[in-house]
Amino acid sequence: MRSMISTQLPTIIVFLALSAILSPVPAQKCIDQPNPFKPYDFTRVDCKLVTERSVAKRDNYVNDTTTTNMFEIAEFHCTGNNTALCDNMKKSFETAGQMISQVFCLKTPIKLNVSCLDFCNGLSDCSDERFIDLGFARPVRSMLMQDDDGVTRFYPQALVKQYQMQTHPEFTSIDITATFNTQVKWWFRQDQRQIGEKEFDFLTVCLHELFHGLGFQSYWSDWLNPSNASEALTPYPIISLDPKGSGLVIFDGFHEHGFDKYLITLPSGQRVSDFNKQLNKFAGGPGAKFANVTDFISQFRASPQYEIAKEMLKKAIIADDLGFLPQGVSNVSDCAIMETSINPYALGSNLEHLSEKHYANSSDFLMVFRYKTNQTLEDQEKRSGNLCFGAIGPKLRLIMQTLGYCTSNNSAPYQPTLPPFDPLAGPLGG
Ligand SMILES: [Zn+2]
Repeated sequence: MRSMISTQLPTIIVFLALSAILSPVPAQKCIDQPNPFKPYDFTRVDCKLVTERSVAKRDNYVNDTTTTNMFEIAEFHCTGNNTALCDNMKKSFETAGQMISQVFCLKTPIKLNVSCLDFCNGLSDCSDERFIDLGFARPVRSMLMQDDDGVTRFYPQALVKQYQMQTHPEFTSIDITATFNTQVKWWFRQDQRQIGEKEFDFLTVCLHELFHGLGFQSYWSDWLNPSNASEALTPYPIISLDPKGSGLVIFDGFHEHGFDKYLITLPSGQRVSDFNKQLNKFAGGPGAKFANVTDFISQFRASPQYEIAKEMLKKAIIADDLGFLPQGVSNVSDCAIMETSINPYALGSNLEHLSEKHYANSSDFLMVFRYKTNQTLEDQEKRSGNLCFGAIGPKLRLIMQTLGYCTSNNSAPYQPTLPPFDPLAGPLGG
């Protein structure tokens, strides 16, 4: 998240390598984002199916306690010698964990790796007069699951864990990595003083980032033009070296995130996933072979499907063009409007936040892409005029519920299934 001084939850500074989309082995069913400082570095890994001897069920869930916290900081790296700052951050995570655990009936604890460092010195990500990056968070592992529309999509480990399946793709020890900028002037409510003019409320940012880690993210990105100005958007392309040793590469399709299943175009209400079905017809579909990744990219750019990808970029940079239609909501006008007003396209800001224009002053303020200084979470809640929801607004609740998180409204939440043995060899809904 970036933040304007008036402020921004970061637009991630990323340089995608083409190698990020090439894997030497086909049929790898997980994507890891292991580097907390490079959240868009994807590594494909072969997460084997594992069977638990016993699954610890947590059926006696109670959500009437304010002290339940299903989030645990398993690793904490706080650079510099500022013990007070690090302690304050830990305390805020405790509060944020409790707030989320009260709304969503989490059954399996979620483990965090939290880092705090000076983004300017450590990541060469320095603030300018107007903007400073506050922090970012990602799932460490996401796994392919089969959706009820026949398409396989990637789901974050924190969510898959909640299904409590006896047999599941192998989990990593950490579910979410979160990194925060110590250059930011943070305000903590436990300091018991008023927020300063240039300060940001850490709890707000902490909550915001945890939702990204829980799966508020999209796999639509400009994967094929990493170092140039964005040209076109596709979901994550899976390309592998031919296992038969021909030296060729095999295109295994463009893959969406579970979140992307519910994206629609506005005002028509057409499913964005349908565009991916079209994209996956490229070169005859998954299984098509190319000389190398460069050949794949140049042929894709010359294909009719590239026009669809260019069209998707346009939709991602024009305000009010894309929305998230939660399950059970039939009226398109009741969708959550996504942030698509930032032009040029900013990876990590467009498509992965709710519209600032529509929601910054509403009870759904939490997931807009930037915040202003000098306002506490409580200030934002009060300004929204609706204190029923607290920090976790109605649209955000519906979105997370749609993804598959349990709330008191959906005691049997949506759950995708394990994909067939080799999902990458099967049809991709196209
Ligand atoms: Zn964000």
